[in-house]
Amino acid sequence: MTEVFTGSFTQQLPIPEDAIEAAVEVMRSGRLHRYNLAPGETGAVGALEQAFAAKTGAQYCLAVASGGQAMAICLRAAGVEPGDAVLSNAFTLAPVPGAIAAVGARPVFVETTEALTIDLDDLAAKVGQARVLLLSHMRGHICDMDRLMAICESAGVTVIEDCAHTMGAAWRGTPSGRHGLAGCYSTQTYKHMNSGEGGLIVSDSAEFMARATLLSGSYMLFDRHPGGPPPQVYADLTGEMPNMSARMDHLRAAILLPQLARLDDDCAAWTDRYRVLEAGLADAPGVVLIPRPAEEAFVGSSFQFRLADWPAHAIRAYLERCAARGVELKWFGDSAPHGFTSTYAHWRFAVPPSLPQTDQVLAGLIDMRLPLTFDLEDCALIARILRSETEIRSAQPETAA
Ligand SMILES: *Cc1c(COP(=O)(O)O)cnc(C)c1O
Repeated sequence: MTEVFTGSFTQQLPIPEDAIEAAVEVMRSGRLHRYNLAPGETGAVGALEQAFAAKTGAQYCLAVASGGQAMAICLRAAGVEPGDAVLSNAFTLAPVPGAIAAVGARPVFVETTEALTIDLDDLAAKVGQARVLLLSHMRGHICDMDRLMAICESAGVTVIEDCAHTMGAAWRGTPSGRHGLAGCYSTQTYKHMNSGEGGLIVSDSAEFMARATLLSGSYMLFDRHPGGPPPQVYADLTGEMPNMSARMDHLRAAILLPQLARLDDDCAAWTDRYRVLEAGLADAPGVVLIPRPAEEAFVGSSFQFRLADWPAHAIRAYLERCAARGVELKWFGDSAPHGFTSTYAHWRFAVPPSLPQTDQVLAGLIDMRLPLTFDLEDCALIARILRSETEIRSAQPETAA
């Protein structure tokens, strides 16, 4: 019998009932704007900022409108100016070079390893070309953060982490987002907490966070940031920073607070699902699994593997066979961008150089979402389908496209 999977790869869990109730309460109050507070009220945004700072062990937290806005605000608050170079991963998603472009800077892409992380040898070679690294933990894969920080610190390069896929993850016990000057997170629907759109910034630097708060559009109301630096820090900065109007509102924050309380459980559930897929694909013919170092506490909210030496036509046929059995895969090696799958060569605004190692890794890279609406049995079924289709291919003689 040919097994077929019928679940949806884009179906997230519903918003929890207590979060819905909190959102309804905000709507009943009519006070949705973050600075619209009754006397003595902290408000959901301020409460979220305090709770997320505590969760990550950061001194300060600022909630914003999206992960992309979080990154652009951080770059500007870190002193990046139009025309500056910013180091970043060649393997990432479009909002990362987009944030660099949004501040008028230009990305300097760094090569990708077979572990899907930034290539630290290539970083060491290029580190002198910029003063800031926007490090993307793409698809939740964390590089050797000790070596990365040593490279950047010795070159005087400021590190800003893009933790869109590593909220809740850690490297040797340090939460992702806490290694450099700042960490950026997304609360967009397909990330680890879901408010539709949204973003969070954490940092220990008072002056940096004051700049970020002004950039987010604080209308001089920085005394209404219980998770931010004290008002006197703003004294010399106020006229300097433009208002980018990227605030979070109480409705989204109200939805996020109960999700933050569940984050650890959700992250563990994702990783349980990831491990089922990993075990199910172990030793599958032609499949290369992505190594996961012991120092990395990752969140398995998506799953990647490489069809390392497969020709493009064989990969395309494999994706079609899997799709016919209900398993929706993305391919980073595709020649044109489809949906969220984009590679640096498609970002024509960034004038990318040639990156042969990244090209080789992406050529066979397959990606799959793992929403929490899938249970462990669903994941085992998906793994059986993926595996049996690789076996079909290896049993066939090679034919031209
Ligand atoms: C989703 C994502 C972001 C930011 O996303 P927003 O949609 O702007 O919240 C940043 N980096 C990566 C790698 C992402 O996948």
